[in-house]
Amino acid sequence: MHCFYCEAGNVSEDRIVITGSDVNHIKNVLRMRNGEELMICDGTGMEYTCRIAEFPAGEVLLDILKAEKASTELPVRLKLYQGLPKKDKMELIIQKAVELGAVEVIPVMTKRCIVKLEDEKKEAKKLERWQAIAESAAKQSGRGIIPTVSRVLNYKEAVKQAVAEGMALIPYELAEGMKSLKEAAAKAPEQSVISVFIGPEGGFEESEVEFAREQGVVPVSLGKRILRTETAGFTTLSILMYEIECAQE
Ligand code: SAH
Repeated sequence: MHCFYCEAGNVSEDRIVITGSDVNHIKNVLRMRNGEELMICDGTGMEYTCRIAEFPAGEVLLDILKAEKASTELPVRLKLYQGLPKKDKMELIIQKAVELGAVEVIPVMTKRCIVKLEDEKKEAKKLERWQAIAESAAKQSGRGIIPTVSRVLNYKEAVKQAVAEGMALIPYELAEGMKSLKEAAAKAPEQSVISVFIGPEGGFEESEVEFAREQGVVPVSLGKRILRTETAGFTTLSILMYEIECAQE
């Protein structure tokens, strides 16, 4: 069934109003007619099975047949705190994090970040682009929510925020053995939020990892090879996603 997203404000008790470019898509591209069914996600985690009722000018009106919690969302909120990488790499990282089930990507400024977001205007523009990437990845992968890309945080505020919310992990290439990751993964399904800190290309400074550890973030190894910053995030999210999905069956 075709699936579209709408603003939560467009959903009333038994009806949904579709506006904007989706109207043309439903009417003229898919050539859907009254009585046909489609799925709507409201971006907050609800999923609606609907039937087309009317086509007033510039809108599509839908009757809600069934409302349920989006089945594609993980019960644990995974957050990726990503050290700002060079060039366009953040775009790939956001896209893949969304596919793997993350609800939020938070770009983080660390000591070895080479990129500097020069001013607020540039940052706002980047964030807008990153959010659009998250949105299209959410649609493509059938997410029930549209994950957010938050404003850039400095490292210490990021660590404090993550620790306040729940379990936090910091993959560190100098961490030894797989035991700490294995233990964290086993506990993953019981958490409400898990935050993952990934360093930029140059990695974290030891003092940064030490600060995180003092605050309660768990350093973990991802194996004996050095992974690129993008690979490290995907690997950690994949492992957590696997454990959480398995625990749901
Ligand atoms: N400082 C390193 C590489 C950094 S890789 C160097 O230049 O040699 C970027 C980030 O990926 C690291 O900060 C870390 O968070 C993660 N990472 C890469 N390989 C890892 C591994 N084997 N175990 C845990 N984390 C790893």
